[in-house]
Amino acid sequence: MNQYETEAVIDIFIDSGYQIVDFSEKADVYIVNSCTVTNEAARKTRQIARRAKRKFPDSIVAIVGCYTQAFPDEVRDIEEIDFVMGSNNKAKILNKAEEMLAGKAITNDVKEYQELKEYEELELKRLSNTTRANVKIEDGCNQFCSYCIIPYARGPVRSRKKEDIVKEIKRLSQQGVKEIILTGTHLGAYGSDRGNSRALTQLMKDLTELEELKRVRLSSIEGTEIDQGIMELIAEEEMFCPHLHLPLQSGSNKILKAMNRPYTLEDFKETTAELRKKIPNLAITTDVIVGFPGETEATFAETLAAVKEIGFSKVHVFPYSAREGTPAAEMKQLNGNLVKEYSKKLRLVNEALMLDYQKEFIGQEKEVLIEEVRDHSTDLLTGYTDNYLKVLVDGPDNLKNELVKVKLEKSIDSYHIKGKITK
Ligand code: SF4
Repeated sequence: MNQYETEAVIDIFIDSGYQIVDFSEKADVYIVNSCTVTNEAARKTRQIARRAKRKFPDSIVAIVGCYTQAFPDEVRDIEEIDFVMGSNNKAKILNKAEEMLAGKAITNDVKEYQELKEYEELELKRLSNTTRANVKIEDGCNQFCSYCIIPYARGPVRSRKKEDIVKEIKRLSQQGVKEIILTGTHLGAYGSDRGNSRALTQLMKDLTELEELKRVRLSSIEGTEIDQGIMELIAEEEMFCPHLHLPLQSGSNKILKAMNRPYTLEDFKETTAELRKKIPNLAITTDVIVGFPGETEATFAETLAAVKEIGFSKVHVFPYSAREGTPAAEMKQLNGNLVKEYSKKLRLVNEALMLDYQKEFIGQEKEVLIEEVRDHSTDLLTGYTDNYLKVLVDGPDNLKNELVKVKLEKSIDSYHIKGKITK
């Protein structure tokens, strides 16, 4: 989300005649589009903004985005900052910067997160990468999981107009982008602010009409929000990647409840079983938070068992770290060493699961989208299959950003498969 918005703001400045320079070089204006998901992200934001001001005291330094929105007073108190803006009005950053450059005094107003009512239309015009592009379809979240600061940083669900999304995707595909990732703060809530629980399915259906569009991937989505229509579209339409990232977070119902997650383990297993029945070769990846307050040997064992039983093709392991301002930060925290130990155990299980999933495809021919950058250590071309297996192949540069057929020959490690181009 932040990458998408940063690129859109860059476009606005370029359109007005500005030149983008590296953050370490001298500039008139420095803009830090902040992340606030962890305390550490906020600390880094403060550090990088201060560093810019110390190095170039005459320049304007701004912090915008999630951190400012969730903790406006904390950010305003940073002496080195010239102006702040919240999560909305990113299109107005240019106006504020120009007012400051002209010597005018500006107000540092950040709306309350509950007041963010309109979806802010931003558009990606220039592409830093033509292999794939994130396209934002929704902003905000109403779920308030007890560990998560995002609803306070992004505000309530606001959906982007379907026509604007389709128009942008059509243009990006015509510009040569091969893979589109539909992105949102809470993707599955798309349309819920307008009372339309089938909006994502309808959008996906409309995308099947775009002839030039090759691949569409959904970013993280709650299992509870995948309806029959989405399942059928992924199963039947080749453009939709058979890959879903469904955040499980814990395999213990006790912990899921404390996290304020909207499902039980049984619900989750039912959804994944149905998905696997309908969509052959589906890759299901997930996020798991380990060491959440209240985690015990028993709840962690339930998570390990659930992860193995569901058979994810990849598990992103997040050692829990308390985020100030969330209800979970007020709960009794676990010892840090225990959290590390649990993370290590789950990472080992993940390695084995990734290798198991790879094995299913060794010997098969799959379509691979070749990336623009070669693998650093082997200098081979790299690419991803539709079910998100990373493949290394030998081949010329002109295959970059092309979809090629590859025979998957052998597993190099849990993250890489060696393949051979067949056509
Ligand atoms: S659904 Fe996702 S974004 Fe929303 S509160 Fe929960 S973890 Fe955060």
